[in-house]
Amino acid sequence: MMRLAYCDYNAGAPLRPQAKAAWLDAARGWGNPSSVHDAGRRAHARLENARESVAKGLGARAADIVFTSGATEAAHLALEGAWAAGIKRLAVSAIEHDCIYAHARALDKSCAVLPVDAGGVLDLHALLMFVQRQEQPFLLALMQANNETGAIQPVAEASEIVHRAGGVLLCDACQAVGRLPARLGDLGADYLLASGHKLGGAPGAGVLAMLCGAPFAPPRFGGGQERGRRPGTENVPAIAAMAAALSASLHERASESQRLAALRDAAESALRALRPDLVIFAEGRPRLANTLCFALPGLRAETALIRLDLAGVQVSSGAACSSGKVRASRALLAMSVAEERANEALRISFGWASTAQDCEAFLAAMAAISARAAQLQGA
Ligand code: PLP
Repeated sequence: MMRLAYCDYNAGAPLRPQAKAAWLDAARGWGNPSSVHDAGRRAHARLENARESVAKGLGARAADIVFTSGATEAAHLALEGAWAAGIKRLAVSAIEHDCIYAHARALDKSCAVLPVDAGGVLDLHALLMFVQRQEQPFLLALMQANNETGAIQPVAEASEIVHRAGGVLLCDACQAVGRLPARLGDLGADYLLASGHKLGGAPGAGVLAMLCGAPFAPPRFGGGQERGRRPGTENVPAIAAMAAALSASLHERASESQRLAALRDAAESALRALRPDLVIFAEGRPRLANTLCFALPGLRAETALIRLDLAGVQVSSGAACSSGKVRASRALLAMSVAEERANEALRISFGWASTAQDCEAFLAAMAAISARAAQLQGA
């Protein structure tokens, strides 16, 4: 049987053993955490243990943790909650994930989109210019690390600028939690969000951590769960799995980031040896240790992706497929990457179960794909 090499952790990580055990334990003892009977009380205890643990991991108070179904819902909740509490203007970096980028622009028709430089990092001068024009309460959304390029953003610096001008900051830390120090207070974020399945938890759980006093009026109504901030019965097994995955990833963070950087660097050097014209996006900028976003000029990402998949190697392309059309990545275009190059962007991302064999399988497949492309060009 063909060995599969999974190199797409930024899309979703395989379930960690600790998360699986926590999920199963919570699923076996099913009960609604809002019920007053014994099963409910036990589910409630599991939920509150998970809350304590997630709060500790994110540098927040348990009371400030709101569990959601994932990062997308956490982002919507933060944006809508801040808007309902009187935030009058939204601004997003040009490289935010669509769950923030599109939702903020739908909420605020004059939402500002702040540029990034060629390395994919927020232009702080543009932020300064933006805040100088604000007379009303505003919110800036800035991710901690970009999902495509891995470029790390100057969140603490942006937070200072934003707070000095009376604004608030929402930080999407989905790709950073477990990989970089990602604590609410240290980042200077008023809202921070993360997703269980990116950490090696089960899909179906995310978290919004809010600094005490951050503007928030509940935008949705229902059963009063999560202190009235997010209605709907909590997905206790997925939340327990997220808490277990977060603890495991924080425990291993330092050693894993060294190990994954070595894998990533090995991949980068071997690709460079294969193709000296290799283009690395966000090269030379602080990047997540696990992520490599690159292009081999002349090789379209969709072609490479299919050939890699046939060879059992799973990666992502920078381009997004929607309604049958491949569109170049908005984040890469915002970095002034030419559309043609953006359509060649591939991303590999490693994680807790990645091995040297995965990296070798990826490199062997890329060598074969590149040789075939060269043959076709020569024919
Ligand atoms: N934010 C970032 C940076 C992401 O990479 C993703 C997922 O790809 C999301 C948000 C959305 O996460 P979820 O799938 O938990 O809704």
